[in-house]
Amino acid sequence: MKELNFNYEEISKDCIKCGKCIPTCTIHQINPDETTSPRGFLHLLGAYNNGNLELDKEVKDIFESCFLCTNCTDVCPGSLPTDFMIENVRADIAKKYGIAWYKKAFFTLLKNRKLMDFMAKLGYVFKSCGFSSSKTQEGMIARFGIPMIKKGRLLPSVKSKSFLNTYPENMDFNGERKVAIFIGCMANYSYTGVGDSLLYILKKLQINAFIPKEQVCCGAPAFFTGDLETTEELIKRNIDYFETFIDDIEAILIPEATCSSMVIHDWKRVLRDEPQWLERVDKIVKKTFISTEWLDKYTDLDKLLEKHKAQNSSVTYHDPCHSRKTQGVWKEPRNLISKNYALKDMSDPNRCCGFGGVTIQSEKAHLSEMAGKPKAEMIRDTEADYVSAECSACRVQLSNALHEEKVETKFIHPVELIAQSLRGKEK
Ligand code: SF4
Ligand code: SF4
Repeated sequence: MKELNFNYEEISKDCIKCGKCIPTCTIHQINPDETTSPRGFLHLLGAYNNGNLELDKEVKDIFESCFLCTNCTDVCPGSLPTDFMIENVRADIAKKYGIAWYKKAFFTLLKNRKLMDFMAKLGYVFKSCGFSSSKTQEGMIARFGIPMIKKGRLLPSVKSKSFLNTYPENMDFNGERKVAIFIGCMANYSYTGVGDSLLYILKKLQINAFIPKEQVCCGAPAFFTGDLETTEELIKRNIDYFETFIDDIEAILIPEATCSSMVIHDWKRVLRDEPQWLERVDKIVKKTFISTEWLDKYTDLDKLLEKHKAQNSSVTYHDPCHSRKTQGVWKEPRNLISKNYALKDMSDPNRCCGFGGVTIQSEKAHLSEMAGKPKAEMIRDTEADYVSAECSACRVQLSNALHEEKVETKFIHPVELIAQSLRGKEK
């Protein structure tokens, strides 16, 4: 079993108890108790490390209530990695209590692309039996409660064909430059418009695209759940594969905050005790970007967009935690979108949407609902036509929150908005 040999006590002692992190903490905002705050988590982790706290069910429940939003790390004067410590203690929890069968089954699918393709097809064929369509938001509604899914919950629909199975490996757009696309599982199976739009943008920019067919999940869902073995396997398989093409491309574009943050930041965290792998990750990370950052910084897309007419719709942009806080990317999508759409800021675009990961979505859905409600309300207050975020996890969570609160603002990914402008039509 993989271990990261983490000394919680050392980091816990570095906490100066200033409390700066507390008002920003997603779980503390909905459960204002010191034990469910970054400072409280650190204190408990220190006690656990020196043997003064047992990892009993109550403590397990506390550590599983963190949304891993990284707000605490962002504002902490010492940048204490509370999120990473929670990710690590979840590995201890997984060792002691095991991982629920449906999470294990899900991670098995993430490791096996062919099986996942088959299950997605099956899901597409039978979705009308267990799900109905939403009238206001993109997605489908569970008719009854099943593991991981609460009755009435809005979920992403599975498409008949995945993004990776739709296009050839090499797309020649008459360019001299070439980028690879790492699509992410949600955009591969559900939000396929993201990949279609990214390809359309590259075509307009005359940048050739390489679609690496053997890519597997970045490992984020397993990492956030404490399944380090699955995480490590997925990371190493991707590294072995990426090395086969990394010298032939200029960049790897990832139109997903969580996946790009996982590759750029967390792969190194997971492999921190394996220097030979760290060197290999470094080479990949240097060429890896969340897509709007690369498009904004390294292409003339902004100039191209200026030549296209203004759209009649307005957009409010939500900052995914794994984009703004962990990658510092928030100006870039706004810069590109604002060329053709009116931007309307919500009151707190940086507030976490409340997705939280597999455990929060399945076992603690009430917490994600509580965190999603204020976000849906602030989106409604903007009266914008669209809410946008470069993250499919935010898309799942926000679409459900908007559905629950009966807000008609539609979710659309920034690259879909950009492609829409380039096509010169509204959706
Ligand atoms: S990661 Fe987010 S939810 Fe977890 S302790 Fe930090 S601020 Fe709170
Ligand atoms: S901001 Fe950092 S140092 Fe201050 S209480 Fe929070 S974790 Fe401790």
